[in-house]
Amino acid sequence: EAAGPADYAAALDAILAQVTPILGQGRVADYIPELARVRPDQFGMAIVGLDGQVFEIGAARQPFSIQSISKLFALILALTAEGDALWTRVGREPSGSAFNSLVQLEYEHGKPRNPFINAGALVITDILCQRFAVPANAVLEFLRKLSANPGLNLDRHMALSELGCSDRNAAMAHLMKSFGNLHSPVPAVLDAYCGQCAIEMSCVDLARAMTLLANHGCVAATGERVLGVSPTKRLNALMLTCGTYDAAGDFAFRVGLPAKSGVGGGIVALIPGECGICVWSPALEVSGNSLAGSLALEALTSLTQKSIF
Ligand code: GLU
Repeated sequence: EAAGPADYAAALDAILAQVTPILGQGRVADYIPELARVRPDQFGMAIVGLDGQVFEIGAARQPFSIQSISKLFALILALTAEGDALWTRVGREPSGSAFNSLVQLEYEHGKPRNPFINAGALVITDILCQRFAVPANAVLEFLRKLSANPGLNLDRHMALSELGCSDRNAAMAHLMKSFGNLHSPVPAVLDAYCGQCAIEMSCVDLARAMTLLANHGCVAATGERVLGVSPTKRLNALMLTCGTYDAAGDFAFRVGLPAKSGVGGGIVALIPGECGICVWSPALEVSGNSLAGSLALEALTSLTQKSIF
């Protein structure tokens, strides 16, 4: 029999005991200087039910750099603005190569494989650049609303730190622009992209924001509809197939939940109809997913028997 909500507290205790011996194994992302300074052995996890009940453990209230998790919320915002027209500019197949790979852009004429690799996220940011004066602030405002935390902010040092080493993202943006798939000036897109990546949130903030996608597109606390039922289903499918870098197949195999990770060590996930989830631990495995975070989510679905399968 599947577990009820009350079992999440016990599951989190068991998960912490399981991951504690391996905390700090793996490596923090160091290609952005500011990220390299984060202590690797931290761990936090939060589960927020559609009824608002919060289960948390460890450093679940500690804000961290959301990095690629921002791609999910930028995409929701772009979908609400642009609708399905967006899919003419970005695909929805797993890429099978690294999140910052350039190769397939050349032979697929500047159309990125999916919105969760960097090239795809840059196209989404381009859409936001056409719609908002300060796109990173639009993503921040959106996240403040979804997490019910008006105190959220973005770390300008982190944004500048990434902007200072974004040659690869710049190369992708220029290549896509040469194919006509980027409309704003490249520096504006990079600035907005690095800004959204540098938003800081805690596990509790992100788990609450994720209840939107567990609640079929309505904000759980207010009932406000943000996204339609079908677009929400599609986003969850995209997370399952493309949300955890080129380890998405293995992640689906082991965890069985839609999820999106970031190189800051956060992973967001959800159980449809039930709860939003976020786990954070900065040390990463080779694909760029949090090592302890992946294990924690695997333990969660094993302990509670609540995967989408
Ligand atoms: N800001 C990061 C980059 O573009 C995001 C990477 C990530 O979290 O996957 O390199």
